[in-house]
Amino acid sequence: MVPTAVPRPPAHLRVVDPAKARAGAARRRRTGAPESPLALKRRARRINAVLAEAYPYAVAELDFRSPYELLVATVLSAQTTDVRVNATTPRLFAACPTPRALAEADEAEIQEIIRPLGFYRAKTRAIRNLAQKIVDDHDGEVPGRLEDLVTLPGVGRKTANVVLGNAFGIPGITVDTHFGRLARRFGWTAEEDPVKVERDVAALFDPRDWTDLSQRLVYHGRRICHSRRPACGVCPVADLCPSYGEGPTDTAQAAALLKYEFAPGREELLELFLAGRSRAQLQADGWPLSSGRQLRMEDREPWRIGQIDENYRRSAVLILFGALDDLPSRAAEHAEGVGRDLDVLLVQRAATLRSHPGQVAFPGGRLDPEDGDLHEVLSVPGGEVSAAHVRAAVREAEEETGLDPHGVEVLGALAPVPLPVSNHLVTPVLGWWRDVSPVDVVDHAESSLVFRVPVLDLIDPANRHTATVTRGRQTYRSPAFTVPVPGTASTVTVWGFTGVLLDRVLTALGWAVPWDTGRDLPAPLVPRAHDPPRRLPVASPPPGPERPRLAEQLSAARRRRGLSVRALAASCRLPASTIQGWLSGAHLPGPALREEFTALLDALGLTDERPAELWWEDVNRSRTPVRPDSTPYVGLRSYRPEDETHFFGRTAEVAVLGERVVRLVDAGGPRILAVVGASGAGKSSLLGAGLLGRLRAEGGPLHGWSAVATTPGLDPVRRLEDAVAATPDLLVVDQLEELWTGAREAEEPGRFLDRLAAASRDRVVVVGLRADFFGTASRHAELRTALERPVLLGALTREQLERIVVGPAEAVGARVSPDLVGVILRDVAPRGTEAGVGLLPMLSQAMLGTWEHARTRELTVADYHAAGGITEAVERRAEEVHARLGPREREVARAVFLRLVRVVGTGTSATVVRTPVLREELPEGGAAVVEEFARARLLTIDRDEIQLSHEALLDHWSRLSRWIEDSRRDLYVRQQLQRATQMWLANDRDPLALIPLGQLASFRDWTGDPRQQALLSSAEREYLAESERHYEDALERQKRSAREIERRGHVALVLLALAVCAAVVAGALGVRAERFQTVAETARDEALSRQTALEASRIRGESPNLASQLSLAAYRMAPTREGTSALIDATAVNAPERWLGPDGASRLAALDDGSVVARAAGDGLLSVWRDSDRLAENREDLAVVDGAPGLSDVDLLAVDGRVLAAVGGLGHVSLWDVTGAPARRLAGLDVGAGTPVNAVVLSPDGRQLLAGGRGEVLRWSIEDPGAPAPLPALALGEDADVLALAAAPDGTVYAGGTSGEITRYATDGARAQRLDPVPTGRVVRALDLADDGARLAAGLSARELRLYDVEGERVSRSGTLTDFGSWISDVSFTPDGEAVVAASFDQNAYVHRLSDLARIDSLPTAARVTSALRVGERVLTTSQDGTTRAWDRRGPVIHRQGEPVYQLSVDRQHTVLSAVGVGPDVVSLFDLSGEDPRPLPSPEAPPGETLWYAGAVAPDASLVAGGTEDGDVLVWPLDGGRPEEPERAAAIEAGITGADVTTDAGTIAAWSEVGSEIALLRRGPEAPLRRVATIPVPGTEAARFDADSTLFAAADDTNGVELWDVSDPAAPRRAAGLALDSVATSIAFSPVADLLAVGTEAGRVRLWDVADPSDPHPVGETSDALSSVKGLQFSADGTLLAGASGDKFVWMWTVGAADLDVYAALSASGDRMNDVRFVGDRLVATGDDGVVRSWLVRAEDAVEAVCANRGDPITEDEWRRHVTGAPYRDLC
Ligand code: SF4
Repeated sequence: MVPTAVPRPPAHLRVVDPAKARAGAARRRRTGAPESPLALKRRARRINAVLAEAYPYAVAELDFRSPYELLVATVLSAQTTDVRVNATTPRLFAACPTPRALAEADEAEIQEIIRPLGFYRAKTRAIRNLAQKIVDDHDGEVPGRLEDLVTLPGVGRKTANVVLGNAFGIPGITVDTHFGRLARRFGWTAEEDPVKVERDVAALFDPRDWTDLSQRLVYHGRRICHSRRPACGVCPVADLCPSYGEGPTDTAQAAALLKYEFAPGREELLELFLAGRSRAQLQADGWPLSSGRQLRMEDREPWRIGQIDENYRRSAVLILFGALDDLPSRAAEHAEGVGRDLDVLLVQRAATLRSHPGQVAFPGGRLDPEDGDLHEVLSVPGGEVSAAHVRAAVREAEEETGLDPHGVEVLGALAPVPLPVSNHLVTPVLGWWRDVSPVDVVDHAESSLVFRVPVLDLIDPANRHTATVTRGRQTYRSPAFTVPVPGTASTVTVWGFTGVLLDRVLTALGWAVPWDTGRDLPAPLVPRAHDPPRRLPVASPPPGPERPRLAEQLSAARRRRGLSVRALAASCRLPASTIQGWLSGAHLPGPALREEFTALLDALGLTDERPAELWWEDVNRSRTPVRPDSTPYVGLRSYRPEDETHFFGRTAEVAVLGERVVRLVDAGGPRILAVVGASGAGKSSLLGAGLLGRLRAEGGPLHGWSAVATTPGLDPVRRLEDAVAATPDLLVVDQLEELWTGAREAEEPGRFLDRLAAASRDRVVVVGLRADFFGTASRHAELRTALERPVLLGALTREQLERIVVGPAEAVGARVSPDLVGVILRDVAPRGTEAGVGLLPMLSQAMLGTWEHARTRELTVADYHAAGGITEAVERRAEEVHARLGPREREVARAVFLRLVRVVGTGTSATVVRTPVLREELPEGGAAVVEEFARARLLTIDRDEIQLSHEALLDHWSRLSRWIEDSRRDLYVRQQLQRATQMWLANDRDPLALIPLGQLASFRDWTGDPRQQALLSSAEREYLAESERHYEDALERQKRSAREIERRGHVALVLLALAVCAAVVAGALGVRAERFQTVAETARDEALSRQTALEASRIRGESPNLASQLSLAAYRMAPTREGTSALIDATAVNAPERWLGPDGASRLAALDDGSVVARAAGDGLLSVWRDSDRLAENREDLAVVDGAPGLSDVDLLAVDGRVLAAVGGLGHVSLWDVTGAPARRLAGLDVGAGTPVNAVVLSPDGRQLLAGGRGEVLRWSIEDPGAPAPLPALALGEDADVLALAAAPDGTVYAGGTSGEITRYATDGARAQRLDPVPTGRVVRALDLADDGARLAAGLSARELRLYDVEGERVSRSGTLTDFGSWISDVSFTPDGEAVVAASFDQNAYVHRLSDLARIDSLPTAARVTSALRVGERVLTTSQDGTTRAWDRRGPVIHRQGEPVYQLSVDRQHTVLSAVGVGPDVVSLFDLSGEDPRPLPSPEAPPGETLWYAGAVAPDASLVAGGTEDGDVLVWPLDGGRPEEPERAAAIEAGITGADVTTDAGTIAAWSEVGSEIALLRRGPEAPLRRVATIPVPGTEAARFDADSTLFAAADDTNGVELWDVSDPAAPRRAAGLALDSVATSIAFSPVADLLAVGTEAGRVRLWDVADPSDPHPVGETSDALSSVKGLQFSADGTLLAGASGDKFVWMWTVGAADLDVYAALSASGDRMNDVRFVGDRLVATGDDGVVRSWLVRAEDAVEAVCANRGDPITEDEWRRHVTGAPYRDLC
């Protein structure tokens, strides 16, 4: 039942950056800067668009099939839910299908049908009257006009609009409560009157949007923008809403309010809607569209505990479960999963109340009228609950405990419980305390305790019994729980009504375990208010006479100002209970809280009346005068001079001390006397109350002596000087051991003691020293004499102890019972032993506690035990104070106490001692906490210093021990920091004294963790911050220089330097090893990532597969900018899948259909794959010859259903049947040992096998492949080695080689005729014939590929390709005959289009390419390195042309892309709708016109707009992407260089870089293209419409951008101008936010908020690019901005609330970039290289793509060569 995880917002809701939402709301609320009408309209439409996406299924929730049904259902829906109406109307309409039938139906029957809707009699009358009117006036048909509808009985404007909009399709705005509320929250109207709201909203929207808008607002109002607690933190329009913040803005808190959105099936339903399912279909499928599927609580069954009468009153209690932060139960965990931290909130009623005094209850109380309508329901996880009861429960809980109601999540409500004793019907509301806030007693007259009890403690059978109350003869029984109150020594008993309730809840939740119900104990009834008061009058002296007046003044001021206690507490940064105490006069601010009190006076406006000093004087006057007899025990602190009358037990020591001091007066030399004793022996009390008090009192031996007492403190010498300056007769230096425990220079104790010795020559000096420092102190000559005869404080006798116990009480007229004395003596000195002196502070604390618990003038054993006794007095006292603190104060307390201790020594000898702290060094909020503990005497404030009252706290407060233990190492580090800070300050903040870079990492967790920071003083924090800044500066300098060097090509050096820097940081590990190591490792990983990313970039051109894998490695090492960029860049180059093989040349062959691929390799293996798409699998390796030189060629042929493979090598030719695995060797052919066979080919007709030998071509007839028969060889010439062969279908054989020609033969079986050779003049290394034999390709050693046309015997050269870096080693026509693939020794394979001989692909490898061919969609290559590569033919390149491309545009659905460049077609179009981008016909200019450089595809893909050299705009309608005949209209007086089209394709803007104006043209289905307006802009560099088509931004050539309101394109109005520091070169509007991005010639990108176009303001900028940013675009979700820059990078930035962070800098193109567009999950960019290529946008997608395409993973050897410093690892 209790949530186990923080809810998150549903995935389908648009996520809004809270910072943006905050900024937007603040801006829109700004007074004095009202939103302009245009801005309002734009924002309103944006809201509607976002809501349309959030609620695509927003339709009327009432079911209907006709206007009649909707009208009746709408009337019936009053005072009930749509769900109920939908459940009822099917029966009604079955009985009464028409208005006439309804008018004539039997009234009783109708009443019966609609009874479940409530008010059924009235509703029956209403709908029958309505039906009758329709029959009478409208002939039985519901009228379709507003004016008619509103004349029907019971039909108002709202109902009429619902019917018109939903049943008649006539636009209408339905202003119901949701609509009105939201319209006001959105700032669309300020009106309350629905008619006026309708009027205001209608003006903002196109009438076509009215009906849907109405539904969307209702949906939004019901689901997210609730009336009382709008879920702003997850609201999809948060950044557009001025009311953002009316509800919780925390995501988790807000998400918890989205019950409907979390309902099971919600996402599924959404998807079905988006997939086009209609509402009716979904309902037919059983989807309850009106209600969603709601969760049900299991435990809503009622139980009754009594009968109440009809005059009962309603009330509600809050059963609030939560996770108790740091006081978990000690009980064992429960099998049902009740955690140790699960707790429930309880309140103990004040003992002074007349009813149920002292009883424990859940917070709660009666319902108030303002809690709302009893029938209003709320949807919560447990179902629908009464809103009024929930409000009452939470409100009462807030009033009783001060909890923050926003942190409470209501889970459900139990059935009401009738409580006859008070005649209440009590509804228990179950809540989960999601965000715990401090709680405490708000009104002490109402409650005495607010506390949280672990549920496990309640469940524990040991804590359970049955409570009984007997009245007369009747005994009432209830389940009871007696549990400790966490953090205190108290226990409470929960019984009665709360006990019953708790018992039932635990049982219902399945948490209860069996307990002894027969164990009866009387209920702990507390006497009623007239019982005598609890405390002794002397223990609680009445407040001073000024106090009530002061309290009343404060309270009156609070009332005047209407401020709540909590608000005041927040403004003073104090707990509410403290403020409450001041206001009620219960307590007064101590000196430590003077500042906070002044803040309170300010908040109350009282400092306007009188200066704060005068108020403070009032406070002091109000203090109760200190009366020595008020509290005779002092607790942990020592007795002071003024406590002299209460100081007992050391009478003898006091006397001795007096004597010794007097004697010293006449002594020579240093007159120093030491009082030495163990910790807790009472030295300070002896010095304070004994020496300074009693001995100087009248009649004492030192009466009349002036005296000064001090301690070394934080600045011992200064303190001593101050003390000596007062020239006292007696100087007392207590706690001398602080000289050695403080953090100070080694010489300081010596200096101090020298000065002390000097001072003792003029006076008597008495020092107090802890015994364990005796040895240390005696090493100082100045003290040696004194320590030879110290006054030693030893163990106490029983008599002394007794005096310590009883003396103080008796001194104020009280007494300690003899029993108590006995108990204490037994506790302190068991069985007659001596009391350990160390116990004195605890004894003192125990007596103080006993005093405070005493109810009479006699202190009893019960009081003593109630205080915790000797063993727990300190613990309880400290825990009581701690428990009173709120969560935040507890955290502060931890920080304060950890500052008050320090570690002395190291290793096992390290001890923890107390240390004073200056008030100014307390952490924020520390003063209030110190005040609390000081009031409990656990801390002592002495002047400006605070310290633990006694070291006993260190041993006897377990929480403090835990804190210290948990932080021991932190304490040590902090001490180092303290020392370093002191040095830094002492050296005038010299930077040289800052933490060295290498050591800073060890202090990093102190800079980032607020909890750690709280342990530091402001000076230490400043020191750390300064060191951090220093470090950042140094790193920045490093990075800057790295960038510089990078640009000069020496990147590796700098990265190495950074890596070394990181290593230095890592090497400086001294403390906190594990954290430090993490920091160091991170730095190292980042350096490695950068280095590896650079290596990947370096080899990308030659080895793209390996580069991709290295990019992935870089990203895996650390997702640095460089690593991320390299990874994303890897997706923009055509990287092949690869398979490693043995080094050496190998050759490939493939059947055209890709069903078989074969490779002949230099190691003698023939590898056969039987599916070219699955080369990673199913490879069959056949050992054809034994090792090198192996095989040199292979050919495949499909013939007669078989696949034959011929292979050749040195002295070897064989024929194989490779149809299926395993392949079969058909024949080995005799070629003669030593014959170099470099080429084999099978004739296309399947009749011949040819092999190139030395000087001849060997032939075999393979008509019987199993028995090849030799045919006469074809002779070439003696020295001519045959290197290449080709065979035509007609029997012609082409042979090439070293002869410098292509020799030809016409063959027919055994016959052969030599034809005219084709001279080449070069060695022919490769030949291929197109399938039809009409084209021949020859690869030459002369870096040349020649193409020939073949016609019969005629061969003519048709083309030559020369752009190769080395020989052509292989050549093949593609199966479709459109291209030729060439392998070159220049380490590339190339693809050239045959139609124009354009190179359409270059496929780089890391070695000479020995074979290349295309099969299916891939090009396969083999290289000298033995690697076979498969290149996806599609790759990331969409278009490649020889000339620059300047502009891109794409429609919103990403179906058509246009590219404008200097190619043969100015505007190229591509179809993106399929799997591969496909070129479309280019738009052409009408005859006689010249296209100029502009082209823009409309967002709806309906047209492409461009222009002519003469300034005409051309618009080509697109039909499936194909341009049709253009329309033309005159636009401007210059060649069109840019165009943009509005979202609806109705308006076109066209401009020229050299023009003086921008033309706006309109076009519609009926109206022709025409210019409607011009905007004066000189030399337009860039311009763009926004997504709403209401705003247009244009950059001129004078460093400006003009914003124009184009909501009426025929009458554009200038909205504002933006001034820049250089010419704007690109413009983009965010599609989802009011953001305009402008890129400039200087490489800067600036962001403006244009929510109000008449008042745009800059919100961020970046200057990462080093050259002009020419193209800009936001991603569809607005989270990324991409820019194409002249610095050859494509930049991607993440768009923050007010900044742009580089996400990636992409350099795969390598040339100046001109434009960029997001297309689906890819980014498309182009530039001067004329290539339009795409990158995957998200790094995660890139990881997937690289892994899917890598083939064989990077080898360890490759890793070693390219990655240094990181171990080899698998990357995918
Ligand atoms: S939930 Fe908040 S942010 Fe969203 S519309 Fe309502 S008030 Fe505005």
